[in-house]
Amino acid sequence: MLAGLARDGGLYVPDIWPVLSPETIASFSTKSFAEIAVDVIHPFTGDEISRAELARMASDAYAVFNTPEVTPLKTLKPGLTILELFHGPTLAFKDVAMQLLARLMDHVLTKRGRRATIVGATSGDTGGAAIEAFRTSKRVDVFILYPEGRVSDVQRKMMTTPAEKNVHALAIRGTFDDCQALVKGMFNDHGFRDRVELSGVNSINWARIVAQVTYYFYAVSRLGVAASKQLSFAVPTGNFGDIFAGYVAKRMGLPVHKLIIASNENDILPRAVSTGVYAMRDVIATSSPSMDIQISSNFERYLFEASGRDAGRVCDLMGALATKGSFELGDLTQVLQKDFAAVCATEPDVADCIRSTEERYGYQLDPHTACAFVAAEQVADEHTVVLSTAHPAKFPDAIEAITNKRPPLPPGFEHLMTDNERFDVLPNSLAAVEEFVLHHTRAASGVSR
Ligand SMILES: *Cc1c(COP(=O)(O)O)cnc(C)c1O
Repeated sequence: MLAGLARDGGLYVPDIWPVLSPETIASFSTKSFAEIAVDVIHPFTGDEISRAELARMASDAYAVFNTPEVTPLKTLKPGLTILELFHGPTLAFKDVAMQLLARLMDHVLTKRGRRATIVGATSGDTGGAAIEAFRTSKRVDVFILYPEGRVSDVQRKMMTTPAEKNVHALAIRGTFDDCQALVKGMFNDHGFRDRVELSGVNSINWARIVAQVTYYFYAVSRLGVAASKQLSFAVPTGNFGDIFAGYVAKRMGLPVHKLIIASNENDILPRAVSTGVYAMRDVIATSSPSMDIQISSNFERYLFEASGRDAGRVCDLMGALATKGSFELGDLTQVLQKDFAAVCATEPDVADCIRSTEERYGYQLDPHTACAFVAAEQVADEHTVVLSTAHPAKFPDAIEAITNKRPPLPPGFEHLMTDNERFDVLPNSLAAVEEFVLHHTRAASGVSR
């Protein structure tokens, strides 16, 4: 959790997958979201965190959501249910894991008498969720790099309006790729990394994935664990973190029929499932920017499982991806096709889906969720849960272009438009960013300020 990325560049996975008994899973139907979360997460924490401590942190984390259900379900028609994951403070599903992660990190750092410096790059949603979750932390300083002028107004304000001194929004004179390269540069500068106790909260942080397993169990608990009928899940997918959490839920004993990968026109995963070749292409800008990704980082975790935990083989595949931009799945293709279905939703598909869902059900989807809705209808399983990863008001320009109406922010967010903004503009330079972090973090040892 504290390291984020391993020092050798690899990703962490647990030694074993804990399995919950059918009785435990059945008992979830009468438990709250926070209680289910404790049962799901505690098997991963070992002796490091007691059940009582975890229960307190979970109840605090989910209390900031604007509904007691935390992630409510809305059934639009028989066999199609929306799982709303956007009721947190930044209106996207990243809040569900990030709110708990901030509390877990503070807890562990306090126990160890340590501090941490978090740096992250964002194209929009992760930055706001991280700043919002860590703004009250006594142990963590957060620095979020975003491309100046290239995030939506709502996304920027969510990063720049919190006034606490331990959170910093850094507008970089460059692109999102430049921001990511700067973050990578800081992690690869081991002297700097150790000096500021660098930590990361992007979606390859294992603790974030674990915290996302919770809502798969929650959905099944509310829709029924009827042995006769298993649910499928359609997941708007970018970095493969959210859907990998669904895979973990299945490994933990949750009865799941199919996991459906929903992509926008950046369709590297649907192409891999149908052809057995994982091949990068240029990123296309779409109405669902959080899924405009050419490498799905968490797919590496799945490859490790699919290959029977063959680390050497995963290393070879990742090496091929780095050197020639593609790799062949070979005999893993059949395993992949058994575990996942995958659908690419084009921009016209997404627009049609948003319009028709509003007409038929009076329900407005955001463009990311619409990709999953398209995928669910195409696969047409008996009962599919569509994960809704963002509130439409977070992407007002895209929605207005499709429906001719601007979606209003939900109640309680009006202050965003009037609060003062605070951010620093920095050049696209590793030295400049490192110097800024060194002089503003409380974690750095031996730095005079
Ligand atoms: C981050 C994000 C996604 C993609 O999730 P992954 O875990 O990266 O696959 C989808 N939708 C929204 C709104 C997001 O913010």
